[in-house]
Amino acid sequence: MKQICPVCFHHCVLEDGQTGFCRGRKNIGGEIECINYGRITSMALDPIEKKPLRRFYPGSRILSVGSFGCNFACPFCQNYQISMAGGGACEESGAAVASGHNAAGRASAASGQDAARKAAVVSGVYTEFMTPEQLVARAVSLETRGNIGLAYTYNEPLIGYEFVRDCAMLARERGLKNVVVTNGSLNVDILDTLLPCIDAFNVDLKGFTDDFYRKIGGSFKDVQQFICRAAKESHVEVTTLIIPGENDTEAEMSALSGWLAGISADIVLHVSRFFPCYKMADRPPTPVGTVYWLAEVARKNLRYVYTGNC
Ligand code: SF4
Repeated sequence: MKQICPVCFHHCVLEDGQTGFCRGRKNIGGEIECINYGRITSMALDPIEKKPLRRFYPGSRILSVGSFGCNFACPFCQNYQISMAGGGACEESGAAVASGHNAAGRASAASGQDAARKAAVVSGVYTEFMTPEQLVARAVSLETRGNIGLAYTYNEPLIGYEFVRDCAMLARERGLKNVVVTNGSLNVDILDTLLPCIDAFNVDLKGFTDDFYRKIGGSFKDVQQFICRAAKESHVEVTTLIIPGENDTEAEMSALSGWLAGISADIVLHVSRFFPCYKMADRPPTPVGTVYWLAEVARKNLRYVYTGNC
């Protein structure tokens, strides 16, 4: 039976067996399932500053995990191998793709000796399955190495918000922090269900025009709503990647930083340097001077502005 996915602005209408734009959700037997649930493609104990978060537990480290899929189509994506992957069936051992996005599903996925950490290649990307319990146990075991919690990052984590939610609730019970690094395009009603257990966000604000967001397959309005809502409940830092000729004018940075200041002058902005990659591999990197100059523009409106990748 045809279903409409409620998770983001794409509102994908999916026939049975069809995968959504993000490749992380699929209509399976008339229900939209999160097919990247627990499917870990990347994991690292990173400095918190790498998320980037500069005013949230500075000097700490955080266990960072990612899966596959994204609901944007940025031609400059630095993680395109995982963000653009997905959508197919498992091709190797590991049996079915985990779709246990509720307690029963988790229990069943975790049951049996072989359920844990099963490897599978999903549409060309290597994944290992972990239950929330296993991931949180790993995070706890790393506390002695400075780990403060879990960061959901690398691909767009919120297309699989169920895994974020299940892990975050458990992590919170164990006294860990939860950080989400996102393009900020989750339906705000669903965001509301996550906010009680998320301590900090880094949200990409990729530009400040409808045109730019249209080019990258996003929704400017939805990202704005997300940032406003998240900043009411959690620590929020924002990252803007400056791409020459795309979003590097004084007027755009002035409007962007002025808008953020309207939420709070204390909101943190990271002005970041673009390096050529993916479909923009033929572009030159952003001149360092441009990044510093636009950071100065932003400082007219905001107290905390940092440069990145310089
Ligand atoms: S989360 Fe994925 S499947 Fe759902 S509406 Fe967005 S792009 Fe489509």
